Amino acid sequence: MNSNEIDIHKELKKYFGFSQFKGLQEKVITSLLNKQNTFVIMPTGGGKSLCYQLPALVQEGTAIVVSPLIALMKNQVDAIRSLSSENGIAHVLNSSLTKTEIAQVKSDISKGVTKLLYVAPESLTKDEYVAFLQTVSISFVAIDEAHCISEWGHDFRPEYRNLKNIIKQLGEVPIIGLTATATPKVQEDILKNLEMSNATVYKASFNRPNLFYEVRTKTKNIESDIIRFIKQHKGKSGIIYCLSRKKVESITEVLQVNGISAVPYHAGLDAKTRAKHQDMFLMEDVEVVVATIAFGMGIDKPDVRFVIHHDIPKSLESYYQETGRAGRDGGEGHCLAYYSYKDVEKLEKFLSGKPVAEQEIGFALLHEVVAYAETSMSRRKFLLHYFGEEFDSETGEGADMDDNVRNPKTKVEAKDEVLKLLEVVKKTKH
Ligand code: ADP
Ligand code: MG
Repeated sequence: MNSNEIDIHKELKKYFGFSQFKGLQEKVITSLLNKQNTFVIMPTGGGKSLCYQLPALVQEGTAIVVSPLIALMKNQVDAIRSLSSENGIAHVLNSSLTKTEIAQVKSDISKGVTKLLYVAPESLTKDEYVAFLQTVSISFVAIDEAHCISEWGHDFRPEYRNLKNIIKQLGEVPIIGLTATATPKVQEDILKNLEMSNATVYKASFNRPNLFYEVRTKTKNIESDIIRFIKQHKGKSGIIYCLSRKKVESITEVLQVNGISAVPYHAGLDAKTRAKHQDMFLMEDVEVVVATIAFGMGIDKPDVRFVIHHDIPKSLESYYQETGRAGRDGGEGHCLAYYSYKDVEKLEKFLSGKPVAEQEIGFALLHEVVAYAETSMSRRKFLLHYFGEEFDSETGEGADMDDNVRNPKTKVEAKDEVLKLLEVVKKTKH
């Protein structure tokens, strides 16, 4: 079947009920249907799944979707099955299946019923599966969360490194890689590792014009400062990120004592409590959730109005992801980070216990956070530049939405900062 013969708008409506593609979806889908290697970089929530689901559904053969999280795969499979009367249209292949279930999956694939086969990377490396997949028709391979390939990404998974070798054994099939990690370094790693230098790259803008970025110097008055900030945003939802569980607990308590409804969230709480606190936040029984980075994956509350970083994050990538949970609905989203050089030293100390390669990457990432915190230029421009995106800090969308642009520093202040920054650079470059 030729891509020209497929009316993808009609198929979009038929399968997903949407009347329009979002952002770059149409271009990506057309590229994949033309059998091109394709690489997609879109922020979280941008609609990456549909970029491979639709081409899979309308083509002959089975598309293999590599994804790192079993829970995520199950959700997607359930969603796809609800779009069709054919139960076998999507399957998961992983270690939790019984022999009978595996036989069913294989039979559905062989019959050509299965359009999407979700696999964890470690399952795909199994010889028996590879041998089986060599005997069937594969439409393409999709690698979701492709940043897992790179040590410069926030979720490196060694199994991802081996994917290209396996895909090669399946014959000539197009590959589509997808990620929300926008740094050029990670992108380069992905393309190199998948041997896709010929891929057509589709990159959406990472600018979030409705988010206001602010950095405040962390002083001993931070707690009263946070309380004042929250009281200025009375009745609105917000997240406060802290580095340690202990800090999460103590800040929650301070807020509660001061009449702010808040709950803690961190991996030290049992699953039931975590789920309860998450629900309380989603249902607006509380205004604020105080959390470690354990909180947020898959949280889709559209009207989070502020994200506060009590401690600086370990990379700008994490900072972007975490602040990105504010203002999903397009409304106000205030992103406030507290910065002190002491915190940087703390993070450095953490890192110094790690293997050398990891240390080097960690220091480099941290150094970028320091530069962001200390800059006097447009924060949006700085962030977007870090993601390889040009931003015009005079005319770009959201150009005046940060502290530095609203209240420019005097030349003297700015010069002081540059000198301080140079010292930091010297220090972090071991
Ligand atoms: P990502 O993987 O990029 O984070 P998802 O694939 O999970 O994003 O999609 C995010 C949301 O966008 C989903 O709820 C999905 O149904 C919705 N979506 C995707 N494409 C469209 C579209 N063309 N029109 C409307 N909604 C869409
Ligand atoms: Mg996704």
